[in-house]
Amino acid sequence: MRILKAKKSGLLFVISGPSGSGKTTLANSLLEIGEFRGRLVKSVSFTTRPRRTGEKNKRDYFFLTAAEFKNLRRAKKILEWTRYLGYYYGTARDFIEAQMGKAEGVLLCLDINGARSIKRAYPDRAVTIFVKPPSLKDLPLRIQKRCRTTRVDEVRRRVKVAEKELRAAGSYDYVLVNKDLKKAIARLHRIVRSRLSNYRAASRS
Ligand code: 5GP
Repeated sequence: MRILKAKKSGLLFVISGPSGSGKTTLANSLLEIGEFRGRLVKSVSFTTRPRRTGEKNKRDYFFLTAAEFKNLRRAKKILEWTRYLGYYYGTARDFIEAQMGKAEGVLLCLDINGARSIKRAYPDRAVTIFVKPPSLKDLPLRIQKRCRTTRVDEVRRRVKVAEKELRAAGSYDYVLVNKDLKKAIARLHRIVRSRLSNYRAASRS
């Protein structure tokens, strides 16, 4: 994994969590309420993994071939990248830089490697949040529910990665247990609200 510095300022809210933890639903909840509209934007990553039913190119990911991904990496268009279950995922540098000039915060849903890289590169601006599922037991069902075409062996591999990811939760700024979605959403909104207002106050002084 390599990281290239983004130039402009603004907070980077990095949300991680195992497949099926509900991190995407939680992240999207921030974009759906008026309070954060125009203040937060979601980073759309590059990926080489196949598109799932219901996913849209450029909205959920920029879906690329491995050769396209490598070319972008070579051209330094990728801020950080990882390999997850055999596919490449990377943060679009130009997108982040453009959005950071406009919004107060950028939301990134990244794996634990991405969160670590962003925190290391931007210790004062990165806010890391780990979303934990209530138990590992229900995870296979939650993964399958999200996309019915996910193959059984992929579900198994994702659960295996989840076990590793859960061990990294302690290094995050916040850990959110997504047992009750409404409560988890409310807690996430409180975290973001308070970090944005502290950041605003600090930028003024
Ligand atoms: P999924 O295939 O479930 O969409 O994503 C697999 C994992 O890759 C998730 O943990 C997701 O958060 C992470 N991910 C998505 N985009 C990026 C990225 O640009 N960089 C990193 N490091 N992880 C990413």
